[in-house]
Amino acid sequence: MVERTAAPAETEAVGERLAAELAPGDVVLVGGDLGAGKTTLIRGACRALGVSSPVTSPTFTIGQRYHGRVPVSHLDLYRLEDLGAEDPALLDDYLGPDVIAFIEWPQAAQPRLERVTRRIEIRHAGGDEREIESG
Ligand code: ADP
Ligand code: MG
Repeated sequence: MVERTAAPAETEAVGERLAAELAPGDVVLVGGDLGAGKTTLIRGACRALGVSSPVTSPTFTIGQRYHGRVPVSHLDLYRLEDLGAEDPALLDDYLGPDVIAFIEWPQAAQPRLERVTRRIEIRHAGGDEREIESG
């Protein structure tokens, strides 16, 4: 499905609707260029999952763990070019059967991700417009 949004709040709302379809163990890959709105969409999803702490892109770590109604993880692997060169357990803290995980810049981790349940792709569509493709 492809949706168009014209403001950050609309992209958050797409994330909220996505959250309603998720269950523990789900791994959601969120692709798109810098500034596309990946973190914005994940913020909306986290809010809907009961996360009350601020949801921003992790800067000094590869991920954050939040406490919502279920455990929620938010990974940003932008600086991780090749997970093959990293400790294989690097992602273990963030994934698991009880966790809903969102992963920005998932390319480096894809070979290592056994259970990807959703893929979202966000594209710039001029100005504040975004095209959000979900599968
Ligand atoms: P990413 O995580 O993909 O790098 P962010 O979500 O951090 O992107 O930032 C998206 C930026 O684009 C924010 O500054 C946000 O305010 C702005 N923006 C403008 N229009 C939209 C929109 N329709 N959807 C999402 N973000 C938008
Ligand atoms: Mg981001």
